[in-house]
Amino acid sequence: MDEQTKSWRIVAVRRLSEAQLKSLSEVAEVDYFEDVDESNRADFMTALSKAHGLIGGKLELDETMLAEAPELQVVSTISVGYDHLPLEALNRRGILLCNTPDVLTETTADTAFALIMATQRRLVELASLVRDGGWRAHIGAEHFGVDVHSKTLGIVGAGRIGTAIARRGALGFGMPILYTASSSKTALEQQLGAQRRELNDLLAESDIVCISVPYNDDTHHLIDADALARMKPTAALINIARGKVVDEPALIEALRCSGIRAAGLDVFAEEPLPANSPLAAMNNVVMTPHIGSATHETREAMAQLAVVNLLGALIGSGPLNAVNVNDWLRSAANAKEA
Ligand code: NAP
Repeated sequence: MDEQTKSWRIVAVRRLSEAQLKSLSEVAEVDYFEDVDESNRADFMTALSKAHGLIGGKLELDETMLAEAPELQVVSTISVGYDHLPLEALNRRGILLCNTPDVLTETTADTAFALIMATQRRLVELASLVRDGGWRAHIGAEHFGVDVHSKTLGIVGAGRIGTAIARRGALGFGMPILYTASSSKTALEQQLGAQRRELNDLLAESDIVCISVPYNDDTHHLIDADALARMKPTAALINIARGKVVDEPALIEALRCSGIRAAGLDVFAEEPLPANSPLAAMNNVVMTPHIGSATHETREAMAQLAVVNLLGALIGSGPLNAVNVNDWLRSAANAKEA
């Protein structure tokens, strides 16, 4: 091991296994934080000020913190989404950002389908009825759900996860698939008979609308009051992407006044969901606490990929997944010229 390798320092935050920490510590000094809060923020910042690499889930990082981390070369997030990280500031400082796509795709699609099933068949509401002793006679139409099979499934953002949801719908449940994306998806169209639509048309034609776009300036409140008004009153909205893709007050209003029938939500404008959110009192809403990728197998695979990304980037063999590689190369070239 050369001198450079031995002198690397890594700050690791949250949910790395002992084996993964061992892999990191074989090539670097590692400061591990189970969590970062007010009680240990100063220690975290001291560690970050000397770190070449930062790895973890739900990393909190901003421009001010980056200014205090002059050695930082790589940030490796244990997530596919990176909307919580300051991409422009990382680019300005020539810091490589790595994420963990693919390994969580199928699990997150499973979560979306769980929400589809639960929302259409009112599983949470009716399971509570049984548990709470409210099932005293044969149930009637007031407790009926609506079908999943054969209903039109609209995928807003047919990327990796959107495509996996579409596959479940088309092949498992005989659902016609509509989709939006920045570009046409020939394979999706040929293999599943999916049809691309403008967002407004997809909203108007779908029985179930499933959101799987990344969150950014373009997708902020993509589903607002106007969009919700275009949906069928019998339709359900499923969101496994990010809470702020949907205008939450507008969604609450649409659910309240029967603008749409139901919603299945894994993500929220504010997380954890405030206890006084009107959503919490709505029977036609199924909610999960941001568990898209939260299985033992998948979280392990994500953390492992994040470790490989970080070490690959530091050692120079190359990370498997880099979000901003072009900006990073540009910044490296500029630094060489200077
Ligand atoms: P992805 O492969 O990049 O897919 C995103 C899709 O959205 C792409 O098809 C893209 O189109 C499309 N898109 C982007 N902007 C759009 C817009 N303005 N209008 C319509 N479509 C647009 O990403 P992924 O791996 O499927 O992940 C999607 C998101 O899911 C992540 O960014 C993350 O926020 C979220 N997520 C949540 C959880 C959870 O725990 N709930 C877990 C994993 C991921 P093109 O293909 O044409 O570029």
